[in-house]
Amino acid sequence: MRRIDNCLECGEVREIAAHGLCFTHYREKQRANERQLPPGVDRHSPGVRREQKKLFRGFTSVMVGLSDLGVSRADVLAIRRIVEPYLAPIAKFLSLPPEENEVAVAGEQKCESGSLFTQPPKISNKAGGQNA
Ligand SMILES: [Zn+2]
Repeated sequence: MRRIDNCLECGEVREIAAHGLCFTHYREKQRANERQLPPGVDRHSPGVRREQKKLFRGFTSVMVGLSDLGVSRADVLAIRRIVEPYLAPIAKFLSLPPEENEVAVAGEQKCESGSLFTQPPKISNKAGGQNA
């Protein structure tokens, strides 16, 4: 048997669902709670925004282009430095701790295209064993 009481919301004498609320208002409140996202979650501001994505693409194109041209590491770094200010909006995504950065650069030497950000662990088959 349900308790009959005044609903805290509408004040009418009704069957009480929980928390002193009639079924109508209890459900209403539940629905409102469900709609609420945890603090810090905001679907309208994804971590990487459209403008940022564009910058990533531009930066990737530059790096891939330099790679295809066989530009020396020193020159790549120089160009990277020139381009730096344009990357300000995505800088927080690009800067890694120094050691990680070094590893990424070292593994990049013979990388063909597009994989500048995520370096799959690749076994180098640089015609080493077939020489003799
Ligand atoms: Zn009510």
